[in-house]
Amino acid sequence: MATAIYPGSFDPITLGHVDIITRASHLFERIIMAVAQNANKQALIPLSQRVTLAKKCVGHLSNVEVESFDGLTVDFAKQHSARVIIRGLRAVSDFEYEFMMSQMNKNLDPEMETLFMMAGLEFQFLSSSMVKEVADLGGNISGVVPPVVYEYLTKHPVRPKAKG
Ligand code: ADP
Repeated sequence: MATAIYPGSFDPITLGHVDIITRASHLFERIIMAVAQNANKQALIPLSQRVTLAKKCVGHLSNVEVESFDGLTVDFAKQHSARVIIRGLRAVSDFEYEFMMSQMNKNLDPEMETLFMMAGLEFQFLSSSMVKEVADLGGNISGVVPPVVYEYLTKHPVRPKAKG
């Protein structure tokens, strides 16, 4: 149980993700937050920026590293000698997809375990896509994302305003 990975798109990282990784950092010697390139999911924020933002948000956790990856999660885990994949689980909405994914990862690598951590109560209804939608409509998202993400989304609007 020395090393675990916490994969996701983190487009952008929210306080729900920070809560999971903070709690997980107390359980493992080393955690690698793995930011997915995810070619079939159109990301709003470029990969390098998602990594930079994540690094700023977890920089205070001494046993957490942030890296980007492309390809299979189980391959990334193996390359880093990790046998545990951490995933956050929100009430109802995440279960079916996460269950399928963990079974598939088990098929790909029988030694890999997926560890689910329940989202904190106050983050149950928080998602990156909701953050983007609210930011796009001009809503204040400062209560649900770390300050650096709030600042980034203020400077880089979800839908750039048309010129002229
Ligand atoms: P993906 O694109 O792989 O679903 P996300 O970046 O959306 O990745 O999420 C990464 C992980 O964090 C997933 O396990 C997801 O269920 C979990 N997660 C997302 N939002 C929250 C939240 N508000 N609280 C706890 N976990 C969350």
